[in-house]
Amino acid sequence: MRCPFCRVDNDRVIDSRSIDDGANIRRRRECLSCRRRFTTYERVERQALSVVKKGGVREPFDRDKIRSGLNIACGKRPITEHDIEALVSAIESECYDNYESEVPSRAIGERVMELLRGVDQVAYVRFASVYREFKDARDFVDELEPILASDRAAASDRAAARMMAGGQGIVAPRASGPGGAPAGERPAEAAVEPRGR
Ligand SMILES: [Zn+2]
Repeated sequence: MRCPFCRVDNDRVIDSRSIDDGANIRRRRECLSCRRRFTTYERVERQALSVVKKGGVREPFDRDKIRSGLNIACGKRPITEHDIEALVSAIESECYDNYESEVPSRAIGERVMELLRGVDQVAYVRFASVYREFKDARDFVDELEPILASDRAAASDRAAARMMAGGQGIVAPRASGPGGAPAGERPAEAAVEPRGR
């Protein structure tokens, strides 16, 4: 590797470490001529993957686009940069593993939603609202209903378990948010930020 300072091609590697889950290697090198140190990154060259958009337009696969969609959906949610980066990497790996040279944008969008749903329901509905181009409140309700139904099923399972265990049979109603809906089930929070894509 030619030294970026003195241009002499004579160095030794002083440290190698695997980064990004082994996808890249970072090497710290020392120039044997001028003794200055520099860093190189090595990664496997993969065949370029194109994303086929609705209408047939193709563009290069771009993890930044996936990340920015996730950043918008996850704004102010308890999701770290690291979590988002892990989601982006998971989706990228799956695309490269499952598609030869072209991946439909729909497949990426659906997969993002699937993964997001397991991470944070608000972020999931936000992403869905942009991705599925929700037109009105009804679309939100349609998207939320299966989530709320499974929450209710889980809650009634817990209540049944408490009854079986001989605990209190009647549970005091939870504190309500404005409009009377239990705070945890209000879809209003999910309705913010439909812009950005
Ligand atoms: Zn040098």
